[in-house]
Amino acid sequence: MTLEVRTFGDPVLKSRAARVKTFDESLVRLAEDMLSTMREQEGVGLAANQVGRLKQIFVAGLEDEEYVIVNPAVEAVSDETATDPEGCLSIPGISVEVERPASVTVTGQDVSGNPLRIETKGLLARVFQHEMDHLNGILILDRTDRESRKTAMRELRERLLASQ
Ligand code: ZN
Repeated sequence: MTLEVRTFGDPVLKSRAARVKTFDESLVRLAEDMLSTMREQEGVGLAANQVGRLKQIFVAGLEDEEYVIVNPAVEAVSDETATDPEGCLSIPGISVEVERPASVTVTGQDVSGNPLRIETKGLLARVFQHEMDHLNGILILDRTDRESRKTAMRELRERLLASQ
């Protein structure tokens, strides 16, 4: 089953997700539905906030590899950073430059509660950090420079007015 993706302006996107304490069938179903939604929307990642659930879980997928990470935490980041354009399924049509550490080590749990630890770099490191931001109520517009934010906000307003 696919879920409705919440878009910019929905307060759930500015809220912090709560730690998952119960690893049950409903969590497994949520993870499966989030993966289906991500695939349908042709995204590379999706956090629970984006489907209206304030639980610390995100999914990511690049090429054939897919990830489900519960209660993620950053263990280490590289000093080296990279700046690249980023989009978001919750802010359709908008892309802004975001600077992030080039590599990151993430710890967390799988959907059954088993501990996991993943070292990532490149695009996957970017996706993981983007999704963890969502779980803390942070969007790419909060991560870009003033000028890019202003331009993106203007585009969003124009699109909103055009759709009314
Ligand atoms: Zn996003």
